[in-house]
Amino acid sequence: MSDPKRVHNFNPGPAALPLEVLQQAQAEMLDYKGTGMSVMEISHRSKEFEGIIQTAEADLRELLGIPSNYKILFLQGGASLQFAMLPMNLRAAGSADYIVTGTWSKTAFKEAQKLGTARAAANTEADGFKSLPAKLDLDPKAAYLHFTSNETIHGVEYFNEPTPPAGVPLVCDASSDFISRPIDVSKYAFIYAGAQKNAGPAGVVVVIVRDDMLERTPANLPVLLDYKALAASGSLHNTPPCWSIYITGLVFKWAKQLGGLSEIAKRNKAKADLVYKAIDESGGFYRGHANKEARSVMNIPFRLPSEELEETFAREAKSNDLIGLKGHRSVGGMRASLYNALDVKTAESLTQFMREFQKKNG
Ligand SMILES: *Cc1c(COP(=O)(O)O)cnc(C)c1O
Repeated sequence: MSDPKRVHNFNPGPAALPLEVLQQAQAEMLDYKGTGMSVMEISHRSKEFEGIIQTAEADLRELLGIPSNYKILFLQGGASLQFAMLPMNLRAAGSADYIVTGTWSKTAFKEAQKLGTARAAANTEADGFKSLPAKLDLDPKAAYLHFTSNETIHGVEYFNEPTPPAGVPLVCDASSDFISRPIDVSKYAFIYAGAQKNAGPAGVVVVIVRDDMLERTPANLPVLLDYKALAASGSLHNTPPCWSIYITGLVFKWAKQLGGLSEIAKRNKAKADLVYKAIDESGGFYRGHANKEARSVMNIPFRLPSEELEETFAREAKSNDLIGLKGHRSVGGMRASLYNALDVKTAESLTQFMREFQKKNG
């Protein structure tokens, strides 16, 4: 077989997967471990699938250092369904606090306002979602404090968790920086992440929930919205997204083999440093969206001097096999997403292109 064409993939999500993972999936596609069937063709109650989901869970537990009093769930409906399930399960009749730092936390906040009380502990929208809030207005009685560790569209990232008032559980949408660096899970009561940014294909969302949070679930919720029931069935109340869980499990294994999250964090920092250096040394030709102290290691939105130049940049980048660099329409310009699967060479190819493009057009 000839080598397949692979491009430098900066897509924001669904996004690049490690080549080794795709190759392993390819090798196992027609005959998973001697079953004579693909993972897509076996029962979710089979011992093979039991092995897949249990291994994925064990590898994630090791990778993130998840304590034993937390459950790991593999759910459907994306991070967007979590925006609704969270308040339904954890808020009861109380009020929840939200830190609004970009499109995704704003959306989570809006969903939480539909079925009960939610308040903004901070909102940086008036400043264009470029920074983390300087201070928080926290409710000491809040059912939980929700934040988004990385705003995928605005490129603003929390490197240290916000501190909730004593007794208020910390809840995090980690969709776009999940397993990008080590975190102290014990600071959190609840973490969720759509897999398709940094951990796998679309179709599965990973939830890490502290056991005591499960006791908050009210009695009358439909079962597929009920964390307690989903945890009790080991994410197997109904047919789970078997294939997505399988690939996500392979990504966890790949991350472990690469040296774990401290090694991955180093790689990610090296990639982001390269791109930010190209922006900072461009004399204003490239302008990053986020303020320096908050800028994301995962997603780097940036503008050029004109929309015409941005069009040309995207077109010429594409013809150089640099794919997925067009920014989100709400911010405009370009966005480089540098998830775990991208290697340092890919970031180098981008910065080399950026410098050459500036030389020609600056
Ligand atoms: C992409 C994204 C979402 C939405 O994820 P879906 O799986 O499409 O629902 C939510 N939060 C963040 C931070 C994201 O990057």
